[in-house]
Amino acid sequence: MKPTPAPDDVTAFYWRGAAEGELLVLRCAACGYLSHPPDVSCARCGAVALDPVEMSGLGSVYSFAIVRQTYDPAFLPEVPYVVALVELDEQPGLLLLANIVEIEPELVEIGMRVEVTFEHRGDDAVPQFRPSEHAGATS
Ligand SMILES: [Zn+2]
Repeated sequence: MKPTPAPDDVTAFYWRGAAEGELLVLRCAACGYLSHPPDVSCARCGAVALDPVEMSGLGSVYSFAIVRQTYDPAFLPEVPYVVALVELDEQPGLLLLANIVEIEPELVEIGMRVEVTFEHRGDDAVPQFRPSEHAGATS
């Protein structure tokens, strides 16, 4: 079986949101900066007042790798699969590490539009991304 989330005090909101189909990222109450992965203070200003906010789930592939070998039996049926950094539309440089699913790995490209989907593992869910028809973020 694939690993399931192991929430701690800092990440519990993230996994609870995923289980309910929401992609949550911490937003700094002081400066508005979005931080991921979750931390106890703002990566930009250091404030400790951070609130989870729901993302649109839309973004672009920032970089990726195709995994062709694994030593974890739980992932053998998935090989080859794509591990990617996805840049969310909400903020430049806001990156999430996730799998790109529902596409042949060879067809994944940098800059490709993707949208969040949730892979359920028992009672938990893991945010992943799949190709999206949504246009790029307006800048
Ligand atoms: Zn801040």
